Amino acid sequence: MPEVNTKRDYYEVLGVNRTATRDEIKHAYRQLALQYHPDKNKDPDAAAKFRELAEAYAVLSDDTKRKEYDTTGHAGVSERWSADDLMRDFQFGDFFGGRFGDLSSMFGDFFGRRMRPGPDAARGADLRYDVELTLEEAARGGEREIHLTRSEKCTDCGGSGAKAGTKPLSCPDCRGSGQKQDVKMRKDVRLVTLTTCGRCQGRGQIVESPCPFCQGSGYRFLPHALKVKVPPGIDDGMLIRLPGQGEANANGGPPGDLLISPHIRRHPSLERHGDDLYMVQSITFPDAALGRKLRVTGLGGETLQVAIPPGTQSGTALRLNGKGMPKVGEKGKGDLFVVVEVRTPTEMSDRERVLMQQLAELQQSSTRDKPLKVKQPGSSMF
Ligand SMILES: [Zn+2]
Ligand SMILES: [Zn+2]
Repeated sequence: MPEVNTKRDYYEVLGVNRTATRDEIKHAYRQLALQYHPDKNKDPDAAAKFRELAEAYAVLSDDTKRKEYDTTGHAGVSERWSADDLMRDFQFGDFFGGRFGDLSSMFGDFFGRRMRPGPDAARGADLRYDVELTLEEAARGGEREIHLTRSEKCTDCGGSGAKAGTKPLSCPDCRGSGQKQDVKMRKDVRLVTLTTCGRCQGRGQIVESPCPFCQGSGYRFLPHALKVKVPPGIDDGMLIRLPGQGEANANGGPPGDLLISPHIRRHPSLERHGDDLYMVQSITFPDAALGRKLRVTGLGGETLQVAIPPGTQSGTALRLNGKGMPKVGEKGKGDLFVVVEVRTPTEMSDRERVLMQQLAELQQSSTRDKPLKVKQPGSSMF
């Protein structure tokens, strides 16, 4: 995902349960890290994936950090530890027995701008929420209730973190800027290094008596129920953005967004390709030769009729206009294709065998006289 602020659940990143043991977490990380290591994996997304894995492992492999993450989520972790802190505590290179080169350069911008929010930091982190939908639900769309726990600005202190009746003080070390400047002259060039102020952790403010309701953090974690409008026809890879429904920003900025990521479950008989749906229907050889009307069940459970023309070949796709998935944000629907599969009998009664033999003999003698011509109906899929 390209958004810097979007963060996946660490357990999901490593593909482990929330109850996973340290060894299970270590094992999962090792497997995935070897797979996505940029020295081995040339996929352009591999580096980002690897960083995501390393970050998840850095947090979940440390009992204190894991506990913080379990109770306060991404916001809590990023509030307590900077990217540098996480990387310093954990030696990734050693993990692979020196098998790979120096990785420290990769971790420089681990958390993007989010990890080091200045006093005027932009907004809270975006949250991603995965929603599983059946194909029918994706076609219908409509409202869906989701439940999540996210950070919110503390209402008792207004997000300042200071106890009611008190105010946070401007940090004397950095004069409220949250950053310290180190100026060096080198060959007439003025080199300015900015580092985060250690006293206020970059917030520019110091809370002397913390708010008892949020322990001075300025935000609280609360369960939420939200209604999400799912547009008819939604597909994997699309995101529904709910502005302002993400994590709070402890430094007073606006909250992030909530991104709903749909996952469409496989349908037992219908396969989706964009807005079109495909189903396979097997028919007998006589039906394929003589033609017939066939009843099939559409996505909404409705009965649809499809005419099999005489002389239909196996693999022919018959189109039912406008019986596919709704087009997102547009009028109209895709099509439903019924792919005909001609079934060759594997078991026959004596009478069937006799008739089949007679048919074979008849065809052998008639093709000797004139070639058999059957009009090709429809369009073939293959
Ligand atoms: Zn508070
Ligand atoms: Zn400071």
